[in-house]
Amino acid sequence: MDVTSKNLVVEKAKTSRIEQIDFDHLPFGANFTDHMFVCDYKNGQWETPKIIPYQPLMMEPSASVFHYGQAVFEGMKAYKDDEGGIWLFRPDENFRRINRSGERLAMPAFPEEYFFEGLKKLLLLDQEWIKPGIGNSLYIRPFVIASQPAIIASPSQEFKFIIICSPAQSYYGGEVRVKIAEKFSRAADGGFGYTKAAGNYAGQFYPTNLAKEEGFQQVVWTDANTHEYIEEAGTMNIFIRLGDKLITCPTSDRILDGVTRKSVIALAEDRGIEVEVRPIKVVELLEGMKDGSLKEMFGSGTAAVINPILGFGYKGERYELPKVENSYAATIKKQLMDIQYNRAEDKFGWRY
Ligand code: PMP
Repeated sequence: MDVTSKNLVVEKAKTSRIEQIDFDHLPFGANFTDHMFVCDYKNGQWETPKIIPYQPLMMEPSASVFHYGQAVFEGMKAYKDDEGGIWLFRPDENFRRINRSGERLAMPAFPEEYFFEGLKKLLLLDQEWIKPGIGNSLYIRPFVIASQPAIIASPSQEFKFIIICSPAQSYYGGEVRVKIAEKFSRAADGGFGYTKAAGNYAGQFYPTNLAKEEGFQQVVWTDANTHEYIEEAGTMNIFIRLGDKLITCPTSDRILDGVTRKSVIALAEDRGIEVEVRPIKVVELLEGMKDGSLKEMFGSGTAAVINPILGFGYKGERYELPKVENSYAATIKKQLMDIQYNRAEDKFGWRY
């Protein structure tokens, strides 16, 4: 073991598994790099973090994460430019968000210097796993789990903060049609929909499976009280274009404050596009289909960047969006990716 600084211990993998990976055919999230970052929380403090070879965890079956789902995570990406430079996109936002999520799930905050030092070292060790070229990236998954061996339904006193990394190509290649939720919800007022708590995702699987059986790829979540307002698209924030206006709903305790969402808003405004942040009624989509003003719908998120929505289903009817020229989704996606891959000026200072 190497102690690279007082804050980080590194144990390198003896051999790399990179030769086994087919980088031209990467299923999303199925392969992991040679190393992982692990830091334990015990006796009221975070212990010295370590980078170790990627490996299974040893945990007691009584660990509270298995029973009460006390777990949060993040999703971010590293990109490689054509000169071999490695870039992160607004990682400070992900760092703040994992601690915001953790606070809501009664977990201790993780120290900023551990996070960034660990992340940098991990990416340098596994840099061969980041391939250059638009669309290629290394998906980074920080997560925190409650590891105390005790099946009492109260907050764990022990945690593990871990970062694993998975090489990725673009996330959703395919066409996306969505079902607008009429009965199910993903989040409620006063709840924790704004966090990346593991349970928020488990709760989405069943309604999404039902939507898939009807031929949709995702569910557009609506507000739990009335189901009259759209809130998120699967695991993405949602945007619609009505006429020339770009509209997205405000974040709240039900909606994740997406890094891509806030970047799309800033880029669109910078291009002179009028952006409205306000609640969006389902009937506006129906009216927009009728009078032709609904030009685009898309989801935004780290994994897919921007994913156009080609159509939606609601109350037994199916609607197909018309083909659009000068698509906002395509233009803003390109601009965002050019910044992420260091191919364009970064006037907002988002690259790290
Ligand atoms: N909403 C939900 C529920 C998500 O899981 C994600 C992915 N993190 C997003 C929106 C998009 O957030 P971001 O742009 O930060 O990836």
